[in-house]
Amino acid sequence: RIKNDGKGLAAFFDSSMEREALARMKIEQSLRLAILEKRFCCAFQSKVDIRTQAVKGIEALVRLRDDEGVIQAPGSFINLASELGLIDELTHLVLAEIVKSIDLINETFGAEATISINVAAKQAGNPEFMRSFARALDDTGFPQRFMIEVTEDAFVAKNHFQDEILPMFRKLGVGISIDDFGTGYSSLSALADITADEIKIDRSFITDIHKRPRSQGILRAIESLSEALGMTVIAEGLESYEELAYLQAATKIRYAQGYYFSRPIFLEELKLATPVSSESRASVANRPHQQN
Ligand code: C2E
Ligand code: MG
Ligand code: MG
Ligand code: MG
Repeated sequence: RIKNDGKGLAAFFDSSMEREALARMKIEQSLRLAILEKRFCCAFQSKVDIRTQAVKGIEALVRLRDDEGVIQAPGSFINLASELGLIDELTHLVLAEIVKSIDLINETFGAEATISINVAAKQAGNPEFMRSFARALDDTGFPQRFMIEVTEDAFVAKNHFQDEILPMFRKLGVGISIDDFGTGYSSLSALADITADEIKIDRSFITDIHKRPRSQGILRAIESLSEALGMTVIAEGLESYEELAYLQAATKIRYAQGYYFSRPIFLEELKLATPVSSESRASVANRPHQQN
């Protein structure tokens, strides 16, 4: 507890609270403006077959270009967007950008690559949003290219997610992916009730996996359960050769996503990098340790 017995401290305290409130107002204002001006863009990160290095799919990761032109990662605005009721619109903007860029996406990553869009658990629990989003995916004319990534919390919450919402997406051919698996509130046994196509093991289990026997045990458990349930496993946040070597030597996990294979990249960066053939573009998209 801070005892507020000096004028200096009170002034310091006020001004730091003021600064915080100001900073929040500033980001709120820029968020509203960014929605109006559609100042969002997507970085794409590939999901890679660790045996062949082929791109299985890509994930769209939203970015905000703020008032000063600085690119902001979602950590700084997703929760706020959700609180302010702007996240649904943002998700529709992400889809719109994908549709607009589909030719370049196909050229860069291949026309077979699945395209994953993140949906926050709160959105997943809102049937109205999910219906409108399913309709928007259908309207693209290629809904079967898409996957939605939701955290396990969305499955555990008592709503009609599993019984009514997911079947609607499945009917369109949209894949279902469980994001950040292992960090939420469900247990391994809860997986038995979940019907999804893909399970993404959270980065916290993959980091230094070669040196961490407990993580290795958890990985083995998730792996065998997923295999029994027919779900594809993806290792998230793979950063090092040692981690990759462990996965290859000690597991049957076939897919990974992480800086080791590719950072999230902007399509326009690839477009600007001339002269570039489509083959070298694909390899740029897959180059380890690329910036951004
Ligand atoms: P996520 O869906 O789990 O995405 C993975 C995050 O890990 C991304 O951060 C990605 O850049 C980062 N990452 C990928 N590989 C590595 C690695 O090897 N090492 C490390 N340290 N990090 C890695 P990002 O782009 O900042 O996104 C953070 C989260 O924001 C995402 O986590 C997702 O939950 C959320 N998000 C992103 N785009 C959207 C969106 O369009 N809608 C919603 N609702 N949420 C989004
Ligand atoms: Mg994700
Ligand atoms: Mg994730
Ligand atoms: Mg994660």
